[in-house]
Amino acid sequence: MTTVVAIDGPAGSGKSSVSKAAARELGFDYQDSGAAYRALAWSVLERGIPTEDADAVVASLDDFDYSIGIDPDHYFVRVGSTDVTDAIREPRVTGVVSHIARVPAVRAYLVELFRRVIASSDKPGIITEGRDITTVVTPDAPVRILLTASEEARMARRSAEVTGQSASDVGKQLSSRDAQDSKVVDFMNAADGVDTIDSTHLDFDQTVSAVVELVRSR
Ligand code: C5P
Repeated sequence: MTTVVAIDGPAGSGKSSVSKAAARELGFDYQDSGAAYRALAWSVLERGIPTEDADAVVASLDDFDYSIGIDPDHYFVRVGSTDVTDAIREPRVTGVVSHIARVPAVRAYLVELFRRVIASSDKPGIITEGRDITTVVTPDAPVRILLTASEEARMARRSAEVTGQSASDVGKQLSSRDAQDSKVVDFMNAADGVDTIDSTHLDFDQTVSAVVELVRSR
């Protein structure tokens, strides 16, 4: 039986890098669910579909050929035969991803896809991170974590990651994305039975250890 670990949190909470490192330490797979929303946004932009046109975005799912590497040491994201691992992090994608993530039919489609990816894991466990993993994708997971950090800490971490944009632009983009995303799913408050890890005063290794210890304690 694969142990399912669900981790949610806002942008800049460090969920992706923490989840990947924790998965590596535990010998688990790692699924980045935000990558699927980003890859869909990338593909919609590539096809010249207006990201605000929900019907056209939903229709484009018919030939959305998405794949992701879930081995934490071989992470990749592909659409068809194009490797989009780096392209989906570009500001032009980040700027529109919330438009497509609020479309209910897109969410329903991706929730099913995330569950299939989890079922495909042949490791002892898989960590999946995102915004609605603890509440919608795998509400029955034995380990569910909300990873938070103060807004200042999240902005500082994100601006250290992003190059070519000023700290204040990064900060503005992060708060506006969180504001739009929170209208769709609540990832700022832990649902019943979800453990909160606040990383504001923890460094990276301490945050990874907190996740690993919680998983081992279950
Ligand atoms: O985690 P990341 O910042 O890469 O996610 C990109 C976007 O995908 C989020 O801003 C949000 O709009 C969407 N998302 C979501 N539900 C998830 C994961 C990501 O709506 N589980």
